[in-house]
Amino acid sequence: MDKISIVVPCYNEELALPHFYKEINEVMKKIKKVKFELLFIDDGSKDQTLSLLRQYSLKDERVRYISFSRNFGKEAGIYAGLKNATGDYIVVLDADLQHPPYLIEEMYYSIKNDGYDSVATKRASRDNEPKTRTLFARAFYEILTKISDTDVVDGAMDFRMMNRKMVDAILSMSEYNRFSKGMFGWVGFTTKWLTCEINDRVAGTTKWSFIKLFLYALEGIVGFSIVPLLIPFVLGMLFLGFSMILMLKGLFMSLMMNSFTLGVESIITTILFVSGLEFIILGLIGQYIAKTYLETKNRPIYIEKENEKSRKK
Ligand code: UDP
Ligand code: MG
Repeated sequence: MDKISIVVPCYNEELALPHFYKEINEVMKKIKKVKFELLFIDDGSKDQTLSLLRQYSLKDERVRYISFSRNFGKEAGIYAGLKNATGDYIVVLDADLQHPPYLIEEMYYSIKNDGYDSVATKRASRDNEPKTRTLFARAFYEILTKISDTDVVDGAMDFRMMNRKMVDAILSMSEYNRFSKGMFGWVGFTTKWLTCEINDRVAGTTKWSFIKLFLYALEGIVGFSIVPLLIPFVLGMLFLGFSMILMLKGLFMSLMMNSFTLGVESIITTILFVSGLEFIILGLIGQYIAKTYLETKNRPIYIEKENEKSRKK
């Protein structure tokens, strides 16, 4: 009999979890002749999330959970889920019902019967999203697709089912700085895309601020492309060429015309311009150094504090 693992990262989801648990139960009831495992990852929640998970796992033996010692971020949650899931098919979805659980049935049959390795979802539209967020998201996907060899789909959601083969491939990427959207594309395999309307969160609030999203986007670019490292080189060549033209002009003016003038203003402007660029480039290089530094430390991606076997009362 097939076994499906349902992985759910949760951070402060006490309000959404009861709704989620109810709905996912309906879905599991509908899919016949399949064993289920519900694996919740409590990402260091500060509310009642963990005690809810303890209750669920007490009365429902399909429920397992892993509770982190602090908030490690959703990426660490996904990793812990994939690593500990025991199913033949593994699906990851959010706890706030923004990822419609009923799609799990279709995902399962597409992989089982149609030969796909994974079924992923993307949003139908960005209508109910703030305009600035849409603008940044669009630009991000466009840039990332151009400058990396990874296929990152615009509007892709972290709602995806994969077979064991693909999950093992993802797990073999043991990097600390994880950007799932890129990793799913990077490992390859055949993926079927479903489009679905994104609902409003059933309860609770979003855990992503604009700055958190921006840093996440940067993570994607730095993690999957080394093209930005070429920028300093290209700029350097341009500057070199430009300064040589100016030098030649100065030489010509002073030798032939005997009239060479240079204002203070132009000096200041030049200094500001060049040093500004230098800082940007240094920052960029700093990003890569920071990442290398973190990777070489070989830190664990998450730290477990408790699970359903070591449950406290
Ligand atoms: N989440 C998490 N750790 C975090 C932030 C979020 O595990 O540090 C979980 C959260 O509980 C939810 C999912 O990731 O199940 C998506 O988060 P959210 O709904 O806040 O993001 P949005 O849908 O607004 O992008
Ligand atoms: Mg959400």
